[in-house]
Amino acid sequence: MNKILFLPNKRLVKISHKLSSAVSVWHPPSFPTFAEYITPFTRLKRSLAFIGVLSLIHCTGMAQNSFLLKPDRVFDGLEIHEGWRVWVRDEKIVLVGEQKTVEAEAHKSQTSGRNPLQIIDLKGCTLLPGFIEGHSHLFLHPYNETTWDDQVLKEARSLRTARATLHAQKTLMAGFTTVRDLGTEGAEFDDVGLKQAIHQGIIPGPRMIIATKALIATGSYAPKGFSPDIDVPQGAEEADGHDRLIQAVRRQIGKGADVIKIYADYRWGLMGEARPTFLLDEIKLIVETARSSGRPTIAHAGSAEGMRRAILGGCETLEHGDAGTPEIFSLMHDKGVALCPTLAAGDAVAQYRGWKKGTDQEPERIKNKRITFKQALDAGVTICFGGDVGVFSHGDNAREMEMMVDYGMKPIDVLRSATSTNAQIFHLSQAGNVKANFWADLVAVEGRPEEHISDVRKVKFVMKNGVIFRHDTSLNPMPAK
Ligand SMILES: [Zn+2]
Repeated sequence: MNKILFLPNKRLVKISHKLSSAVSVWHPPSFPTFAEYITPFTRLKRSLAFIGVLSLIHCTGMAQNSFLLKPDRVFDGLEIHEGWRVWVRDEKIVLVGEQKTVEAEAHKSQTSGRNPLQIIDLKGCTLLPGFIEGHSHLFLHPYNETTWDDQVLKEARSLRTARATLHAQKTLMAGFTTVRDLGTEGAEFDDVGLKQAIHQGIIPGPRMIIATKALIATGSYAPKGFSPDIDVPQGAEEADGHDRLIQAVRRQIGKGADVIKIYADYRWGLMGEARPTFLLDEIKLIVETARSSGRPTIAHAGSAEGMRRAILGGCETLEHGDAGTPEIFSLMHDKGVALCPTLAAGDAVAQYRGWKKGTDQEPERIKNKRITFKQALDAGVTICFGGDVGVFSHGDNAREMEMMVDYGMKPIDVLRSATSTNAQIFHLSQAGNVKANFWADLVAVEGRPEEHISDVRKVKFVMKNGVIFRHDTSLNPMPAK
């Protein structure tokens, strides 16, 4: 049974009048660029959401904001630890480690009367850091439902926003407590409001690192098949040259972009193949402008030349990288640029075009992707977990993890990529690890995902910022190893 421990805003506000004394002093997070700013009001609502939830679901009638989590084992972002316990208080992890030590400390705090302790039994489960999706589009839905062109041209922004709120909820319930959302694809700055709605506790969803509109060279990223006499809206913001690029980067940052995304190449014009767009000097200018405000730049890049320019221009991650070469991957390694391979998007698109997976031979594009992904691994490139989810269903983010294993990564390396590695790549200094003083963003799955990656789908518990959003109580005991 799913218990979604989230209450609509109205109820939270109502409860807050009664129980305001339960809230302690606000401390800002230590890394302000991407960290979720928690206003005293938001924090109050969150604490009270949980208080409300407990009285609603467990009928304890008591304020609780201290948890002892008892899974069979903990993946801390790097390794598996059998029998570990995790103690969470408010929005942070307080202590992680051996059962005896953690339980003694947690119970001591209970007897001092400061924080009544709630025991969360997660028998049969592996507890992991909340997963970090590296490449999502919450404003898109699968292309076999509606083509990208039609989503951009025919869907009202209000419709797209309504869908996005549901996508955010599905993402969180699947254990993804953070997403790097790489462009609204024609939905203007609507990711800003979505992020705020999640922050303010109006809707459940993951923490969001947002790119807003993204940047493209003029004419390069639009719905296709129209007469050149018609001006078709683009999927991102067009800008070129010195002044216009600086203005566009600053405008996007001013409106709320945490990261600047550029399209370093695209299938533009009549030839239908990916060709570079921005000049190297233009990319350097974008990167410098974004960096001066403390924000990274990342690039959509599929062609070898587009990738080369994005790497030399200073982009921190490359998205897709389909036509990378051993030389390009070696350059990425040397410059410390991570690859977000988006294997699941390519796999999904090939199937939308008619490929019957498991029956037909793999199309050329898929065969090549296997080869280039292997080349990236061999070159030691840091792999950022990110599936380009939106091309396929939100909440099905695990599909990329399964494909990373299918294409040659060890399951434990995939888990590292989706937690501690992505946190590092995205400058999230308090996420991606189960560690003292880190955000209490946690997911428990039944089974042993470091052996069977698909176990990441068996989500039983999701906590974000110390608030429980999901807790399924019927658990089967873990089979003996
Ligand atoms: Zn994308």
